[in-house]
Amino acid sequence: MGNPRGFLEVSRKDSGNRPINERIDDYGEVEQTLNEEDRVLQASRCMDCGIPFCHWACPVGSKIPEWQDAVYKGDWKLASDILHSTNSFPEFTGRICPNPCEKSCVLAIHKEAVTIRENECSVVEKAFAEGYVQPRIPQNRTGKKVAVIGGGPAGLSAADLLNQMGHSVTVFEKDEAVGGLLRFGIPDFKLNKKVIDRRVDIFEQEGITFKYNTYVGFDVKGEQILKDFDAVVLAIGAMKPRDLPVEGRDLKGVHFAMEFLTQQNRVNRGNKLNGVERIEATGKNVLVIGGGDTGSDCVGTSNRQKAKSVTQIEILPKPPVDRAAGNPWPYWPNVLKTSTSHEEGCERFWSVSTRKFIGSGGKLKQVELVDVEWTKDDKGAWKMNEKEGSERIIDVDLVFLSMGFVHCVHEGLVQELGLELDQRGNLKIDNAFTTSNNKVFAAGDAHNGASLVVTAIAKGREAADNVNKFLMAK
Ligand SMILES: Cc1cc2nc3c(=O)[nH]c(=O)nc-3n(C[C@H](O)[C@H](O)[C@H](O)COP(=O)(O)OP(=O)(O)OC[C@H]3O[C@@H](n4cnc5c(N)ncnc54)[C@H](O)[C@@H]3O)c2cc1C
Repeated sequence: MGNPRGFLEVSRKDSGNRPINERIDDYGEVEQTLNEEDRVLQASRCMDCGIPFCHWACPVGSKIPEWQDAVYKGDWKLASDILHSTNSFPEFTGRICPNPCEKSCVLAIHKEAVTIRENECSVVEKAFAEGYVQPRIPQNRTGKKVAVIGGGPAGLSAADLLNQMGHSVTVFEKDEAVGGLLRFGIPDFKLNKKVIDRRVDIFEQEGITFKYNTYVGFDVKGEQILKDFDAVVLAIGAMKPRDLPVEGRDLKGVHFAMEFLTQQNRVNRGNKLNGVERIEATGKNVLVIGGGDTGSDCVGTSNRQKAKSVTQIEILPKPPVDRAAGNPWPYWPNVLKTSTSHEEGCERFWSVSTRKFIGSGGKLKQVELVDVEWTKDDKGAWKMNEKEGSERIIDVDLVFLSMGFVHCVHEGLVQELGLELDQRGNLKIDNAFTTSNNKVFAAGDAHNGASLVVTAIAKGREAADNVNKFLMAK
């Protein structure tokens, strides 16, 4: 630990965000960066508390006190090496992780947590700027071939490790570029996509092969992949969205969030939409149904498209501002989250349910909403009741359904290979990340259910370790 009194002498200082009136007119990243001097001071606030709960809370087990100390001492190369030893992509998590580490930071009990996420981003950006991140060409090849299906964070982290272990890795991706939800879900204002390209470039130099526009199960059969490769990792995400099958669901103007977000990300890339009609919020009353991250991204994108109004509703009650008694530190805090997109303009309502969509001439015009109350029944299970007399109709031109994802897509590859599913409809795996086919492994949201980028990276790494054991035992 560099400065034992750092946390007493230095206050938390966040990088802050670009002013709303400036950032709302573009898709550039909202978050700013601190200068190096301030960043070193922020790192000095890490007190190396003995039991690093930050490390415990981080799915990739980032060795946070160690690399904070290296930053404090100005050894950015060492900090980068420590960071990369548990995470293939600190540049992703440093930007968009909801940082469970900071929620579990010991300082967060009484004072403000160390700025762990921002420090992480600074370390990796410095590492790229200084040329510390260079292609690491594997010296020996095992002669084993691995197919990774899906180029999201789980597939890419598995591919990275397996390639470094000396296996020959091919990533099959159904889209025109890899990144998964990082690229086509998460908006550019949270994550500039050049950050993904920069890493993929290095992976290509390191020997990973990428096959784009290849929908495995359709463009190439799963059986063929099984024949051609020694092991297969399915990192296909959990992309089946939760629907809202109420009256009027098929009206023009009711969309899944991902239809909207993917289009905007493609437009930002300069892609053509290939005859698909553009979903535009410009001048429209937008209703976002679902109060999570995806909903918040729809709010930010609608505002950038200059919607007339943006409203977001959530069926669950409004969370408390501070931790509730039953939700103590160091656990994840179930508290109210206000994102930068919310700050840009949006009306938010909780405990609201959608009764029906109302249209005319096949087009959405209004939505009927009703307030709900949550109570517990005799067995302690939550029960939802509509509040009598609270129903109302609001004018809406566009609805984005952002109620999460139910499981991985079954049609195509999963059905073709006849893989067993768990109770939630995700890929069932054993402790060695193996599916019901012993040559097929799974990683990320595909088996875990929709989660976080950092969890996907962690699962990709764990899957890679198990694939390696399987290949080397043969
Ligand atoms: C809008 C949105 C915002 C989010 N914001 C955040 C955030 O701020 N922070 C955070 O931590 N998490 C966020 N998440 C969650 C996070 O993005 C996911 O948990 C993470 O991307 C999952 O990684 P994955 O690799 O398992 O799957 P995915 O990212 O879904 O990647 C799966 C990949 O597999 C490909 N694929 C699927 N089937 C096939 C096939 N048969 N053949 C070839 N390719 C195939 C897909 O095209 C895709 O590229 C967000 C999610 C969404 C939807």
